[in-house]
Amino acid sequence: MKPTGDSISRVISGDPEATIDRSKREFLRAAMALLAGLNLPRTSLAGGGQHGTGGSGQRVVMVVFGGVRRAETFSPQGLVNIPHLSADLLPQSLFYRDARNEGVTAHFNAISSILTGNWQRVDDWGKLAPTTPTLFEQFRKGLGAAQSDTWVVASNKALTNLIGASSAADHGPMYGANVVFPKQLMIAAVANALRAGRSRNMADREKIEAELQSMLEAGNYEGLGWSVFDAAERLDPRVRGTIEEAITSFVRSGGPTSGDELTFLVSREVMRKFSPRLLVVIFSDVEVAHFGSYAMHVGGIRSGDRLSYQMWQEIQANSEYKGKTTMVVMPEFGRDPDGSTTNGFFNHRGDTESTRGTWMMALGAAVDKPQIIERPIRHVDLCATLGDLLGCPPMDSQGTRLKELRG
Ligand SMILES: [Zn+2]
Repeated sequence: MKPTGDSISRVISGDPEATIDRSKREFLRAAMALLAGLNLPRTSLAGGGQHGTGGSGQRVVMVVFGGVRRAETFSPQGLVNIPHLSADLLPQSLFYRDARNEGVTAHFNAISSILTGNWQRVDDWGKLAPTTPTLFEQFRKGLGAAQSDTWVVASNKALTNLIGASSAADHGPMYGANVVFPKQLMIAAVANALRAGRSRNMADREKIEAELQSMLEAGNYEGLGWSVFDAAERLDPRVRGTIEEAITSFVRSGGPTSGDELTFLVSREVMRKFSPRLLVVIFSDVEVAHFGSYAMHVGGIRSGDRLSYQMWQEIQANSEYKGKTTMVVMPEFGRDPDGSTTNGFFNHRGDTESTRGTWMMALGAAVDKPQIIERPIRHVDLCATLGDLLGCPPMDSQGTRLKELRG
């Protein structure tokens, strides 16, 4: 099947009920070859599976959602959108009903705040690194963990590589995480394939090129263009050939999938190949809300719900993770209330309960008994808590360690 405008836009923005067909598996295999050859120092990959010995032996998988309101999730009318979180996972979880974002409700700052345990007020578009050390740096510097032990896999295009390490003195990129943006890798590879003239004929090539162009323009929400990795340019030519061909066939297949689906698949491969002790996965199909489609936003919530559950199932099925992993799921923030001057669910700019109030779910090793905690917590509380689970030395954080999670 030839790609149509519709099929390409579905690749990016999502059909949550998609299944994985052969071309996507090929793509994934090639994407892993890309990761293995490309943007990671070889030394970090050489250590795959052989981690530093420090630490508690516990592992952490953090799943961060884009902005979702309580109204569409953990509310009586929202539960229908989150069948896995609410029916499969909630009964075995430690659930904090009220996890508050008291900082900047924009993506880079929100995620930086979660990852550092301090409210960050840096550039909204990730042009500046967080100013205090991330959990990755604390883990690596404090315990001698290898880079292959710390990963960020993200769909969110408001992030940059600077999410993986801070600008703090005595820390920084030498202790940072591997940061991977699967969608950007795909787009870069498609663009390269086009440049290399790999399409079967000129008409085809022009058509794909036009679609790619419109996709890039359509994706320019919040005034932010895709920051396409230049990393593909530095590829080993054999690896580059493999990924380009796989992606060309992936795009040609026209099969529906979403950016978050791709992020999940790459995350799962990272777990299987490198088994990092600290993995952060950032889903953002829900951010299609910026285009004003409520139905697609809800579709993004449903796919995030399903992929979070699949992540938990992978943890149970993977012997490196089962029984010693704590998984947490938390949105970055809510979204603006209906009827607001900021266009309701489209945005997340208001200083309102709907925008600041979220929830947090913890599952696995650190959960003594399932319970629902009514006490409000703050997003900055998570970093010190997870650091403690991993065995990190006490850190300088504005947050408070959550005592319900067992160290
Ligand atoms: Zn957004």
